[in-house]
Amino acid sequence: MRLPAGGRIRVMTPKGRQAADFFAFMAANAGEWLSPMHTWVETRSIRPRAGDVFLSRFRRPMLDFVEDGAGGMHDMLIAACDQARYEEFGVKGPHASCSENLRAAMARLGHAIDIVPQPVNFFTNTQVDEGGALVSPPNEVPPGGYVELAARADVICVVSSCPFDLAIPGWTINAPGGPSELVVEIG
Ligand SMILES: [Zn+2]
Repeated sequence: MRLPAGGRIRVMTPKGRQAADFFAFMAANAGEWLSPMHTWVETRSIRPRAGDVFLSRFRRPMLDFVEDGAGGMHDMLIAACDQARYEEFGVKGPHASCSENLRAAMARLGHAIDIVPQPVNFFTNTQVDEGGALVSPPNEVPPGGYVELAARADVICVVSSCPFDLAIPGWTINAPGGPSELVVEIG
């Protein structure tokens, strides 16, 4: 969806425990996208927190993280799921993915995406332990968990309700019952 500067976007998981892969692009140039790598070197946190500003890969402010109604359970480390990721886990045939959702959504707005940027994964409970290992314990975001962002520039936002539905020991993404819907409101 398009969001003008000053516009707000709220993403909510009504049933809880549903990962939201979030991407943003400058409306004037889809080659300038939100970059967690450029953001965390400024915020000094690998998790986004309310009050942080999400930067583009050219280090320009794109969105303010205004309100965190999910207790800080967000990730900026793991790449968007894609067909290859599901095949790694033994899935035969096509599987829905956040990368494909991104491509389809941007195509509807007239943009051909050949690079899938690192998303901000809201409602995703990955953690880095003391030894530096990346772990993904069960997702504990409660029903109604939400985030609210405000645009600093004219942007395009894409939200993918992550379709990860595999039961991988030690690597939980969504609720055990499988993916569920997200509610996205703009205003
Ligand atoms: Zn995904």
